[in-house]
Amino acid sequence: MCDAPTEADPKGPDEGAKGTKTNDGFSTGEPDRICPISGWGVQRRPEWTGITFEPGFKITAEIIGGSVLITHNHGRASVEGVHKAFDFTEAIIADHLSGHPYIHILDYSNLEGTSLEGRRFFIRRMLQRRHLVGVIFYGLSPLLRMSTKLGKRLNMVPFNVHIADGYEDAVTMSMALLKAAYAQDGSAAGLPTSHPADHYRSPDGVSHTILRRDDWELDMEGFRVRFEVIDGHILHSISEGHFRDIHLAPLISLRDRISRSLASVAGPSTIVGGFEDLHGVDRRARKYYLDAITAWHRKAPLKRYIVYGLDPFMEAVVNFSRFVLPFPVAVAKDLDSALILAREKDLATRDKNHRVQPSEQEALSSGAVEHLLEFIGSIDWERDGVSNPTQQDMISSPLSPIYDAIKVIKSEMDDLLNEKDKAEKAVKKARDELDSRVRERTAELIATNRRLQTEITERREVEVALRSSEKNYRDLVESVNSIILRWDAEGRIIFMNPYGLKFFGYDAQDLIGQSVIGTIVPERESISKRNLTDLMLEVQNDPDRFRKNENENITREGKRVWIYWTNRAITDNDGRIVEILSVGNDITGRRHMEAELRRLATTDPLTGAFNRRRFFQKARQEFLRHHRYGHPFSVLLMDMDHFKKINDTHGHPVGDAVLKTFVETCQSVFRVTDVFGRTGGEEFSAVLPETDAAKAVLVAERLRDRVMNSHVEARPGKDLIRFTVSIGLTGLHDEDVALETMIRRADNALYTAKRTGRNRVVQE
Ligand code: GH3
Ligand code: MG
Ligand code: MG
Repeated sequence: MCDAPTEADPKGPDEGAKGTKTNDGFSTGEPDRICPISGWGVQRRPEWTGITFEPGFKITAEIIGGSVLITHNHGRASVEGVHKAFDFTEAIIADHLSGHPYIHILDYSNLEGTSLEGRRFFIRRMLQRRHLVGVIFYGLSPLLRMSTKLGKRLNMVPFNVHIADGYEDAVTMSMALLKAAYAQDGSAAGLPTSHPADHYRSPDGVSHTILRRDDWELDMEGFRVRFEVIDGHILHSISEGHFRDIHLAPLISLRDRISRSLASVAGPSTIVGGFEDLHGVDRRARKYYLDAITAWHRKAPLKRYIVYGLDPFMEAVVNFSRFVLPFPVAVAKDLDSALILAREKDLATRDKNHRVQPSEQEALSSGAVEHLLEFIGSIDWERDGVSNPTQQDMISSPLSPIYDAIKVIKSEMDDLLNEKDKAEKAVKKARDELDSRVRERTAELIATNRRLQTEITERREVEVALRSSEKNYRDLVESVNSIILRWDAEGRIIFMNPYGLKFFGYDAQDLIGQSVIGTIVPERESISKRNLTDLMLEVQNDPDRFRKNENENITREGKRVWIYWTNRAITDNDGRIVEILSVGNDITGRRHMEAELRRLATTDPLTGAFNRRRFFQKARQEFLRHHRYGHPFSVLLMDMDHFKKINDTHGHPVGDAVLKTFVETCQSVFRVTDVFGRTGGEEFSAVLPETDAAKAVLVAERLRDRVMNSHVEARPGKDLIRFTVSIGLTGLHDEDVALETMIRRADNALYTAKRTGRNRVVQE
């Protein structure tokens, strides 16, 4: 940017017009130039001006505002010409535009054609440029316009490509692109800002750029004029006062300077003269002015000369002079209507400029060719279909096969582009979906995370509670006065609480892993083993049920203990028993007490023989058993002889001793399977299973004999007391249906024994 004369010399017309001024090491021979659109300074050099690369192809290059390279192409370029021209422009870029964003404007208004290779080469080289923000074409031929639009549509290049309507449009675009690029760069300060153009929107909605400069004014005795440049090509003057011939020379000089300083190649194409307060024009001055402007038109052709603000007299003069002036002259009401007139004129002339010369296609109807080219250039390659107004011409034209071919190409292009659009849409949709899936998944993850956090917190609370409840249970297990035993399905001990260990007299390490049977359950007792197996079976059949059992266990020291167990199976997830939890309590004392109570309830306290109730219970059972099978069975009734007398003679305790001795004698005579009991005061009974009456008599005789030969000592070593017993007996008869029948018969026999002298056995 440093070498661009962005700051135009404000000192006035004289200095700028001096001619051979050396600035920045080069001679311009021209006043400083200004871009009429941007207001930026324009750099031109002789060695950039009208450079010929091959016969019939030349280029003029300019740099606007230090950031816009504009190359004006003239003639027809072959690939060699394009090569050389590229080297030329790249040298300028390297020297003056490198290292910062820049725009390349290509003015093709005067380009008559390029070869295909030239165009391919052009694109390849363009792709290699760095810092290139955009390429802007104007004045494109329909063919180039089409290929440029296609290239653009297919996103073939990584930089901006635009087609502008002309110089003004191209510069306006450049300003916008550079501003955006610098804004992106964060260095908007890089843009040239001096003498920016104003913008003005006329009542018909058209936006105009207006460039004014301090030194574009003339203020002389009685006359003042101020110039501005509208839209880059309209030179607008506003005059007031009295115009006289002395004013003419400075006025022409200023206008020349302004038009030379404008960067648009052709200079101003339109002059709009506004008269705000014109008091009068001298006749001579008027004549000189018309001569001067006519001369000027010969140098730089005027497209339109428009005046406004005239009084009726001056208006008549202007209208009259129309016929003698070699350029179109118009009178407008005011500036706005003058601008409308100027624009209408411009559009017409510009279209003509862009048209390919008919001479190139002389062999064909030039109208048809021209229309075809116009048609190609007008196709909007980005939109579906072919523009309608030309349909009619397409059918009637001699070139209709070409129209048809183009239509086919265009429709295939449309298909391709539609496919591409669809693919792009699909990619976008996929990306959006992916985005939304990522968003959903993220939301899910956040929710899950939150849930996890809550769960962790809850679990921590549960753990704390568990730990405290575990401690409670451990305390319970350790302090309870019950045996807590855990053993597995194979009967091995897994655990025993301290109380249990102490109770059985083991250390934990001696007991854990040992079989229950053989340690705390006596091994030799098959009954224990069976109980244990039954227990296991029962527990397995109904693991949830508590199973209670009592069994006799053994301590390490060999002490027999009775334990009441509550057992529960612990199962795994598949319902298999993995262990059994048994809680035991020592019931040895209770068991002993129960046995004693049972004994007391069934025996006679004095002699230890069965009491009457127990005797009859057992005797009845035996009777029924023998009666059912018709087995031999006998009943004996025994009564002490003259017992009253023994009591009376020796005292009651001696009587008791006699009873005890008698029972001992009976027990020595009877078999264990015989049932014997004290059924009265000095009366006793016995039943002898599997014994008929005859055998019973032998037993009774043996008993009578032993009793008769036994004795009791009234005092130790003195008074041997002797006694006898009478016995009545009977065997089981076929007709006997109850024990009582036999008892009655035996009682009769006993009575007979008493009556017939006592100390004898009688059978009935
Ligand atoms: P008999 O030869 O006719 O049977 O004459 P007895 O004296 O044995 O018959 P009796 O039925 O008249 O007398 C039975 C006596 O047995 C009466 C009673 O005081 C005595 N007696 C009953 N039970 C006991 C006891 O437990 N201890 C003592 N010392 N005497 C008892
Ligand atoms: Mg008696
Ligand atoms: Mg008696």
